Amino acid sequence: MVRNREGHFHELARNSGDGVLVLDRDGGVHYASPGTAEVFGYQLDDVLAEPVSALIHPEDLFRTKAVMDLFTERGTQGVHLRLRVRAADGTWRHTESTVSLYEQPGEPARLLVTTRDISAQVALQDEVQHLTFHDGVTGLPNRSYLEQRAGDVLAHRAMGEDTDEVAVIFLDLDGFTAVNDSAGHVRGDHLLGQAARRLRAELDSSSTLARWGGDEFAVLVEGSARAQQVVDLAERLGRAIASEPFQVADRDILLTAGIGVAFAESTIDSGELLRNADVAMTRAKKRGPGHVEVYAAHMHDTVVSRLELQTQLREALTEGAFFLEYQPIVDLESSQVTSVEALVRWDRDGQVVGPDEFLGAAEESGLIVPLGEQILREACQKVAVWRVSDWDIGLSVNLSVKQVMSSRFVSTVAGTLAETGLPAEVLTLEVAEEVLLDEGEEAVTRLAELRELGVQLAIDDYGMGYASLAHLRELSVDAIKIDPSFTADLGRDDTVTLLTHTIIQLGRDLGVQVVAEGIERPEQLEQLRSMHCDRGQGFLMARPMAAVGVEALVGGEAEAEL
Ligand code: C2E
Ligand code: MG
Ligand code: MG
Repeated sequence: MVRNREGHFHELARNSGDGVLVLDRDGGVHYASPGTAEVFGYQLDDVLAEPVSALIHPEDLFRTKAVMDLFTERGTQGVHLRLRVRAADGTWRHTESTVSLYEQPGEPARLLVTTRDISAQVALQDEVQHLTFHDGVTGLPNRSYLEQRAGDVLAHRAMGEDTDEVAVIFLDLDGFTAVNDSAGHVRGDHLLGQAARRLRAELDSSSTLARWGGDEFAVLVEGSARAQQVVDLAERLGRAIASEPFQVADRDILLTAGIGVAFAESTIDSGELLRNADVAMTRAKKRGPGHVEVYAAHMHDTVVSRLELQTQLREALTEGAFFLEYQPIVDLESSQVTSVEALVRWDRDGQVVGPDEFLGAAEESGLIVPLGEQILREACQKVAVWRVSDWDIGLSVNLSVKQVMSSRFVSTVAGTLAETGLPAEVLTLEVAEEVLLDEGEEAVTRLAELRELGVQLAIDDYGMGYASLAHLRELSVDAIKIDPSFTADLGRDDTVTLLTHTIIQLGRDLGVQVVAEGIERPEQLEQLRSMHCDRGQGFLMARPMAAVGVEALVGGEAEAEL
């Protein structure tokens, strides 16, 4: 019976596609099926000559030993094991084996091992893994890989007492889109490959560089002892991009990168860490090309408080918490008040908040459009009433970019004028010079349409933006308002004084009215008068005030009529 069983066994082993081995407890090979030798390219004698450990990858040996030890306890069932085995051609093959106890009467207990070469399967898995986690353009790991890796690193750190910094550096190429659009995607991809190599060259093996997407790269920095080292590294990466030009076709293209850095605070998860780096990078880009910005907790707070502010503003609009003040504009020669500028304020639970603190958020959320309409209507109504009482006074209203560009704006202005009965020519709409530059052609057409209604246009805060003196000739405007910073330096700074003088002169030549803003001291007023500046506005003459204040200022004439 015993012999019969042996015979069956050998028969099975010979015909099995798998390798079959019987091992002594010390790893010596008691039996090897011919298939075993064949799979790995050996002669059968070679396999029998040495203990199996000679063929197993050194890194996998400890697992082999652990399995052997298991079988000293009786009753252990079959165990599966993955090992790398050296084939006759010297390559390491991935194998999957099953080990079980092999007992024959009258013989010492041995181990029965069936083993199969799964290298092809592993290679396929590797390839799938590679495709899933790699970026084809740069050859770097991709976003999915980095996300997973960041998760692993943070999970690992949470378990140990490792106090090293874990950080993420986000990097976005400035101006890449332009290259991609002009030189084509193939060259764009080539440039990304160059950038990837430069970045990789700055990093050691403790960092993972990945392509995050588009022209964005991300670096996961593990185990850096000090935060400053990470920031230094971020700056080095920036220099690696900016220091020499990239070759695109036969042109040299200089690029910079906006960089954000975020550190993993103790309880942070990987999603948050990556988001923070992204937030910092966006901040860096806002500051201009080539900046490095480190994420600080307050950045998150600013985003949150900005959202809160937008909600509050929406409520304020429906509750009617915005109100207007009017600041007189004075004819410098006669000292008469010729018009008023409407300036918006927010009554926030009894506290007056100035426009600089909320207009940005109102603009961002689009709330400026309905708010602007409300401001325009209220101001037109008020001034129309004043004019009924025979007071020839004009009105200036400020416009934001969003308002000017909103499609219904021209008809809103026309409607408001009709509704309030204010003559178009007494209304001046003030726009910052950036509007013309940022929005280009479209803004120019929009403003021309407004002018066709008969309203006047003024450039506000002139001199701060880019509208040069030469530009002034091309702009069809009725007035320019010289920025307060000019007025402040009048007589103190020769260049500014000369520039102010030139602007006034040029304005006169072009038939454009010039208004100086921010007049606070008598000597400024004198200077402007001597330069023949038409109009002035400032605390020296009058601060912005409630409508009743304006009425009182002009001697109660208007008030009497109300
Ligand atoms: P702006 O149009 O240049 O308005 C003049 C600003 O200068 C006002 O600030 C005014 O209070 C201030 N000012 C006037 N005289 C002096 C002075 O002698 N010295 C100094 N230091 N400042 C003076 P305010 O009211 O805080 O408004 C700031 C800006 O907010 C305005 O600048 C304007 O661009 C914008 N703004 C105000 N109201 C509105 C509005 O209803 N709609 C829009 N879109 N923007 C508005
Ligand atoms: Mg203004
Ligand atoms: Mg101004």
